[in-house]
Amino acid sequence: MPAQRLDGKACANAVETELHERIEVLTNAGVQPHLAVIIVGDDPASHVYVNSKIETCARLGIRSTHIALPAHCEEKVVRQHILNLNAQDDLHGILVQSPLPNHMDEEALTDLISPTKDVDGFHPQNLGRLVQGRTDGLLPCTPSAVMRLLKWAGVDLKGKRAVVLGRSRIVGMPAALLLAAKGADATVTVVHSRTKDIANVCREADVLVAAVGQTELVKPAWVKPGAVVVDVGINRVDDDARERGWRLAGDVHPSVADTAGWLTPVPGGVGPMTIAMLMENTVFAAESSHPKR
Ligand code: NAD
Repeated sequence: MPAQRLDGKACANAVETELHERIEVLTNAGVQPHLAVIIVGDDPASHVYVNSKIETCARLGIRSTHIALPAHCEEKVVRQHILNLNAQDDLHGILVQSPLPNHMDEEALTDLISPTKDVDGFHPQNLGRLVQGRTDGLLPCTPSAVMRLLKWAGVDLKGKRAVVLGRSRIVGMPAALLLAAKGADATVTVVHSRTKDIANVCREADVLVAAVGQTELVKPAWVKPGAVVVDVGINRVDDDARERGWRLAGDVHPSVADTAGWLTPVPGGVGPMTIAMLMENTVFAAESSHPKR
């Protein structure tokens, strides 16, 4: 039987419905959630991501400020924008779109964002809280998206074997921490580029989260029959057969659908849910900044 589709768009719609109510409460109290997005350079994919974040803000009634800077601008210009946004009382979330040009230090810029406005959840203070097992703050959006999708599908993680492919600061490691956190209670293995015998490790997983950025790396033989497979990867593949000349592919081969119990599509899986989690973080930051309202 083919895997059930773990539908990120449907799950994101459910999150947006909840957010509508919270945003209405805030706006009735005179607080409009407000997100600023800084983008540097002209990477087409990054502009597509930023535009869909801005469109989602508009749909939900979240105010957005879009700051687009040229690729050659100096890092100090971005720094100054962040400092100005930190000081702006009516602004609740700041996001610097990744990747930045090579001459900029992305981590140093993230460190500069006020932790209370760090809606990407990458500031050391927010990641540090997560390491301490405190999952009630601003959490990184893509790992939160994975967790919310699993919850939405009714997947009970307690005592289950989870394998996370990838150990990045923004996806793999925080996803592993969330899966292992109290309340989720999975037993987690992190697999990375130096891991030996990856296929066998992955085959032990009841829940497999792939975040490697390698097109269709995960094959059916890597997957335990009936496992829940979450494909975080977004890889652009040249494809002459298509009108536009390319397609998006995940880190999981589509034929895994014949082995897995659940599988997220790419596109339409973790991607839309990541944006939904960004919106939720922005609303949370707005609520936290006006606790008496
Ligand atoms: P990254 O390059 O920072 O990290 C990749 C990780 O995978 C590294 O830890 C590396 O050790 C590991 N890895 C690489 N090749 C491997 C291999 N052959 N075997 C085992 N491990 C291997 O990437 P990232 O930022 O974590 O993103 C991963 C993927 O997720 C990318 O395709 C990215 O586009 C996608 N992504 C999607 C969303 C979304 O919203 N859906 C958000 C962020 C990232």
